[in-house]
Amino acid sequence: MAKDRSFAAKTAKTGQNIALVKICPVCNSPVQAVKYIEQYKNEATGTIRFKDKMVGVCKCNEKDLIG
Ligand SMILES: [Zn+2]
Repeated sequence: MAKDRSFAAKTAKTGQNIALVKICPVCNSPVQAVKYIEQYKNEATGTIRFKDKMVGVCKCNEKDLIG
């Protein structure tokens, strides 16, 4: 029985971690943080620059961002 109890405790801990994952209210799927490279033009120099930002990806926008 002691074994079962410790397993239950582990499961409870895992459940807490899952609760930290953001769930999209629209598609009800987990939102993943993905590094997205954005291309933009530096108006001062006229050169193309890239900057990366973290975006939340779920079923709503994964096709737009990942393709
Ligand atoms: Zn969504």
